[in-house]
Amino acid sequence: MAGLTLRSVQKRFGTVEAVKAVDLEVADGEFIVLVGPSGCGKSTLLRMIAGLEEISGGEILLDGRDISAVAPRDRDMAMVFQDYALYPHMTVAENLGFALKMRDLPAGDIAQSVADVAKMLELDALLERKPKALSGGQRQRVALGRALIREPEVFLFDEPLSNLDAKLRVGMRMEIRKLQMALRTTSIYVTHDQIEAMTMADRIVVLKLGEVQQIGTPMDIYERPANSFVGTFIGSPPMSLLPAELRREGDEAWLVFGKGQEVKLPAARMKALESVDRVEVGLRSEHVSLVSQRRGAGSAFDFSSDIVLVEDHGADSIAVVLLGGREIMARVKPGAVHVGDKECRFQLDVDRIHLFHPTTGAALV
Ligand code: ATP
Repeated sequence: MAGLTLRSVQKRFGTVEAVKAVDLEVADGEFIVLVGPSGCGKSTLLRMIAGLEEISGGEILLDGRDISAVAPRDRDMAMVFQDYALYPHMTVAENLGFALKMRDLPAGDIAQSVADVAKMLELDALLERKPKALSGGQRQRVALGRALIREPEVFLFDEPLSNLDAKLRVGMRMEIRKLQMALRTTSIYVTHDQIEAMTMADRIVVLKLGEVQQIGTPMDIYERPANSFVGTFIGSPPMSLLPAELRREGDEAWLVFGKGQEVKLPAARMKALESVDRVEVGLRSEHVSLVSQRRGAGSAFDFSSDIVLVEDHGADSIAVVLLGGREIMARVKPGAVHVGDKECRFQLDVDRIHLFHPTTGAALV
């Protein structure tokens, strides 16, 4: 059982506040992904959990025990690095067995564990090779195997897939997740890739400039971003952000985009907008749909645009269209529209679009 607690954990490098008072409760067996742009402090946070970086403030507890001052090797955590960190002069088998050898385990037990892990990761045929004779994907498997063989209480992953090509990355992220689900080892995984975060995490921690922006399940974060930064960072294609004025008339309100393109807001959304007269509107491609040609007169939630660009993704296509003079993306059926088509009608899913405060960026709900 290994629950991990971070209480107000901080890191300063001189005047740089790399991590600002992070609080996090990780449940036993949970897979947590730390995600954010370059420099947000995710690697520093992970390194503090590992003990590779001293903390400047706060405390780190493993199963309720303060480990803030415990040496890395005594924390019972295994880390997988981006650059694999294999010993070049050792074979795959020796690399895998190294940590157990350091523990003075009998040679027979080590050989058995190496064989088990090699089987799990399909490294059986490569055991006598040196790292330089392996592909990037195979090296990453060995690095993973070195962590697995230790049967630690916590796995720490520092961008382990970023040196692999796109196809291999997808395969490996599924394998890591399957292994973690089978072993149920508490895991903290760092990445700047929001797709990895969405697909692998039980819960995601979004960081920006050393500060936690939001903690939640992938769907929580996708559907209810706490602010416009989280909204635009998570999701593919990225959410478009558009400024809009609010025009009120009696009980009704319209979003006015650019120089006068208007879309009505439903009454249910207006409560959140009492204190503002303009908003930042967050639109995901699935919030913008093509209105069937056969339908009659347009509704107040519609707007029309020429088609700027179409990107075919196979199962669906993304059309770039204009709202208030700004480019946004609409999800359409393949072949439904073509570049240069004029005055196509689109509808905004006004119940689901995101509304953010025009200056703070906080979600208005
Ligand atoms: P990346 O994705 O680029 O690795 P990151 O989110 O992991 O970025 P960190 O490496 O944790 O970010 O760095 C956070 C901040 O701390 C950055 O501003 C970085 O320049 C700074 N920083 C990191 N290590 C040191 C150090 N040893 N000395 C001084 N500043 C540092």
